[in-house]
Amino acid sequence: MEYRQTGNSGLYLSELSFGSWITFGNQIDKELSTKLMHTAYDAGVNFFDNAEVYAHGKSEEVMGEILKASNWSRDSYVVSSKVYFGKGGKLPTQRGLNRKHIVEACHDALKRLQVDYLDIYFCHRPDKGTPIVETVWTMHQLIMQGKILYWGTSEWSAQEIMEAHRVAAQNNLIGPIVEQPQYNMLHRDKIEVEYSQIYKTVGLGTTIWSPLASGILTGKYNDGFIADTRLGRDELNWLKELIYTKENIEKVKKLTILAMDIGLTMAQLAILWCNANPNVTTVLLGASKVGQLEENLAALNLKDKINSEIIEEVERILANKPNAPAF
Ligand code: NDP
Repeated sequence: MEYRQTGNSGLYLSELSFGSWITFGNQIDKELSTKLMHTAYDAGVNFFDNAEVYAHGKSEEVMGEILKASNWSRDSYVVSSKVYFGKGGKLPTQRGLNRKHIVEACHDALKRLQVDYLDIYFCHRPDKGTPIVETVWTMHQLIMQGKILYWGTSEWSAQEIMEAHRVAAQNNLIGPIVEQPQYNMLHRDKIEVEYSQIYKTVGLGTTIWSPLASGILTGKYNDGFIADTRLGRDELNWLKELIYTKENIEKVKKLTILAMDIGLTMAQLAILWCNANPNVTTVLLGASKVGQLEENLAALNLKDKINSEIIEEVERILANKPNAPAF
């Protein structure tokens, strides 16, 4: 496992990391969640990702119990949470990036995760209803209080990230170091185009999510839909409609043949493709089975199967390379 610098910060994250969306506290039980975290940690994963909204807080509770029982040295892992969506409440004070919700959500996350501080605290989405200066001040104050160490954004536009940096610089506050966007073979714009200047200017680490497009990029749907999977879950019908398309499956079928030809599984090709982008700090993996996680982690031993010819062949099949910025 290699460790990469997160933007311009001094925080180093393992190039593959592990998150609990849909799985912990929901799709899988605590015993399996424990095995998954241990499989990841034993392979050198040092970053575990969570959010207040995942399973309405249960995902953090399960992860907290596992962290406590595992007794890993606190300086050997990085744990995150995210604030914005709340844990289910519908009141205006129970969500968003206002000072009240951020502070209360942080306290709740610390309790559920049973840690003294969060290593990274993400603003899960931009909040159009709160002045950005209030959010930046609150994150800075949480850092000053020792409740969080770094803060970041998730699915913010380049303009919003730069606005946070402007406010931070103007007030001598600590700005965000990292963004958590979706990035995979089927979803490329933010990482490849929109943020391209920020990597060079203020610096931006990225903890990218859904590298397998929720399982589509494993090839397991190539011969028809499988209901007993994430995309078969009723709560994710919207996601199935979005990504389980004929066009995507046709591309994945071709990519699967390419992967097999070079001795990779489709999932490994998709993960190594993300990992090969130098602007990706860490590829966040998700898994509902230990075998899946083992397969995905094993991709790191097969990096040499990817070269410029393979990348070109992937581009030819995908035919979705975003236009580079004109500067
Ligand atoms: P993936 O796109 O890799 O999807 C993971 C799912 O794909 C697994 O749960 C499993 O689902 C299936 N899968 C994984 N590996 C294999 C395999 N080898 N063979 C077959 N099926 C496989 O990542 P996630 O969407 O889970 O994203 C990773 C993490 O990113 C999340 O846990 C979360 O921490 C974070 N995230 C952040 C978001 C944000 O807004 N900031 C949004 C979404 C995720 P199954 O077996 O059920 O089909």
